[in-house]
Amino acid sequence: MEPVPVRPSSPISSKEPPATYLVPSLLSPDRPEEILAQHWWSVPERSERGRVFKFGFMPLGFFERIMVRVLHIPAIEMLAMWSTGLLARFRGENTLLTYDPKIYHLSIRVRSISGDPLQLLTELVSVTESLLECYYPKLKDSTSRWLNCTHCTTHGVQTPYQFRFEECVAAITSDNPFVYCHGIRSRSVRVDQLAPDIAFVSFPNIDATQLQIQRLLGEGGSGQVYLALFASSRVAVKRLPSDPRASSDPIKRANKFLEFQREATMMRYDDDHTPMQTYLLTKRALHRCPDRSDIPTL
Ligand SMILES: [Zn+2]
Repeated sequence: MEPVPVRPSSPISSKEPPATYLVPSLLSPDRPEEILAQHWWSVPERSERGRVFKFGFMPLGFFERIMVRVLHIPAIEMLAMWSTGLLARFRGENTLLTYDPKIYHLSIRVRSISGDPLQLLTELVSVTESLLECYYPKLKDSTSRWLNCTHCTTHGVQTPYQFRFEECVAAITSDNPFVYCHGIRSRSVRVDQLAPDIAFVSFPNIDATQLQIQRLLGEGGSGQVYLALFASSRVAVKRLPSDPRASSDPIKRANKFLEFQREATMMRYDDDHTPMQTYLLTKRALHRCPDRSDIPTL
C-alpha cells in the first residue's frame, strides 16, 4: 500500500511542520486496549450515538481514505490508530470508528462527555457519504445504513438493536417522530435523538407561523424551492417532500432524502454565494440554514 500524505509537503526552509504520511500497512492490527479503556470505555455510554454502514464489498483502500479524511477534520485530535480502527477526540466528543474487513461493516460510534454527541457524528457521516458519492458511486447502491438504538445503549446493551436508515427517514417525513426498539411500542425512541443529523438538529429552529410561501421557484429531485417572505424579508425555502405516496419504494425515498440532506449541508457553507437567506421546511419544523458565524469550527 502506498503512503498517503495527510498534510501537504512544505519547503525545507519553511517553519511549517514537515509533511506527515500515513502508511496503512505499518499500522498495528491490535486494538490499543489501554487507550480505549482510558478514553472510550470511561465515557458514559448513555450519551452514545452510532451509525453502521454495511457494504456489499469493500474496495482496497476505502477505510484508509476514511482515516485520512478524519485526520483532516479541523480540531480533531487522534488518540489512536490501528489497521481496522481509530479513536479520536473532537472537543468534548470521542469517536470509536471501526471497520470489519470480513463482513465489510464500518461502525461509527460517538460519545460525549457532556451533552449530545452531535457535531462529530454529523461530520463523520458526512465524510463517509461524500467519499461514497465522489469515489465509489457503484458501492453506494449496495450499501445499507443502520442506526444503533439509543434505548439499548442507555441500558448498557452490548449489541444494540439497529434501525434501518429508511425506517428513520420514513419517521422524519411522516407525522410520527418515533421508531420502536425491536418493534415494541413501549420502547419508543425519538428519531431526532437517535439521529440528530437526519433531523437537522444543528440547524436553528424557526417559528414557521411567520413564513409566507409566495411561489415555486424550481423543483429538483430532492424537493421544491419556493420564494417566501419571512419577517418582511425575501427568503428561499427548500421543502422536503413529505408525501409517502411520492415514492412507495423506501430505498428510493431514502436516497432522495440523502440528496436533500447533502444539498442542505452544502447550503450551510456557501452563504457568500446565496443571494437570500435559505430555510429548510420539513414535515414538522422550519429550520434556518446556518451561515458561517453559526459554525465556529467546521
Ligand atoms: Zn433498543
